[in-house]
Amino acid sequence: MRIVVLAGGIGGARFLRGLLAAAPEAEITVVGNTGDDIHLFGLKVCPDLDTVMYTLGGGIHEEQGWGRADETFTVKEELAAYGVGPEWFGLGDRDFATHIVRTQMLAAGYPLSAVTEALCARWKPGVRLIPMSDDRVETHVLVETDGERKAVHFQEYWVRLRAAVPAHAVVPVGAEAAKPAPGVLEAIAAADVIVFPPSNPVVSIGTILAVPGVREAIAEAGVPVVGLSPIVGDAPVRGMADKVLAAVGVEATAAAVAAHYGSGLLDGWLVDTVDEVAVAEVEAAGIRCRAVPLMMTDLDATTRMAREALALAEEVRA
Ligand code: GDP
Ligand code: CA
Repeated sequence: MRIVVLAGGIGGARFLRGLLAAAPEAEITVVGNTGDDIHLFGLKVCPDLDTVMYTLGGGIHEEQGWGRADETFTVKEELAAYGVGPEWFGLGDRDFATHIVRTQMLAAGYPLSAVTEALCARWKPGVRLIPMSDDRVETHVLVETDGERKAVHFQEYWVRLRAAVPAHAVVPVGAEAAKPAPGVLEAIAAADVIVFPPSNPVVSIGTILAVPGVREAIAEAGVPVVGLSPIVGDAPVRGMADKVLAAVGVEATAAAVAAHYGSGLLDGWLVDTVDEVAVAEVEAAGIRCRAVPLMMTDLDATTRMAREALALAEEVRA
């Protein structure tokens, strides 16, 4: 079985662990979000690709969910001693090496997809990880601070401002001119199942879908497309997804997120058992829906979620 997963960072990466356990024989292609990418200290940083790579490759800081395990911050401290920031973005020494290798390869002319493949040769994530595009896409958020509106990089909004200021729009700058990376459309066309993990619907999956051709390819693939809600009990399980949903006019409920994707894209949707009442509403919108436990508390729970997603896919296929 060939499975394509559109993934952001933590939510996508953790779900993929369960999917690998649930479908060990499957050929899994992960299309990763690169809208969160940022240039720092002259280096190209791809937080979501790295979170997937480190999580599946065994190098992730487990509790934090991003960054490397056993990390130290000597380089960051030395940069700060020079007064060189930003200090709000946590880059550790081990992590720095990844960004140095990536930046060096990009400077030598390799596209991001080839660089990602090279980095994965070390981490062996057990999936084929492809960035959504080799072209530069950067998510910006239109925020309001001190009564003034200005656009800031997504990382500045998310990490420095903790999404605590009003956001009026989320714009994946560059997306409209970006091309899907080599292999993305081919993987979608060859897929037996397409899965939207519990990743951020706006700044992770929404950004991937904003690359011209991707949404259309998924809608036209003619195979089951199933998703798992990142919203449980009317709130994100972690992070501030409710803030970016509000910025695009979507309620932070499992049913509203399903409707946001829409029945033209989504065939099946899993909500958590606490959101059982949402099932009828989602089904009325033309999307098959089931309520099952959706908390990724450990690998077993996550594996059960992945099994439920695959079972729902078979149900809509029938
Ligand atoms: P990011 O790029 O690191 O923010 O990660 P993603 O976009 O992949 O995922 C973020 C989303 O994952 C958030 O909206 C969370 O609500 C969701 N999430 C995290 N842990 C869980 C979980 O255990 N269950 C569910 N259903 N969603 C989760
Ligand atoms: Ca992200």
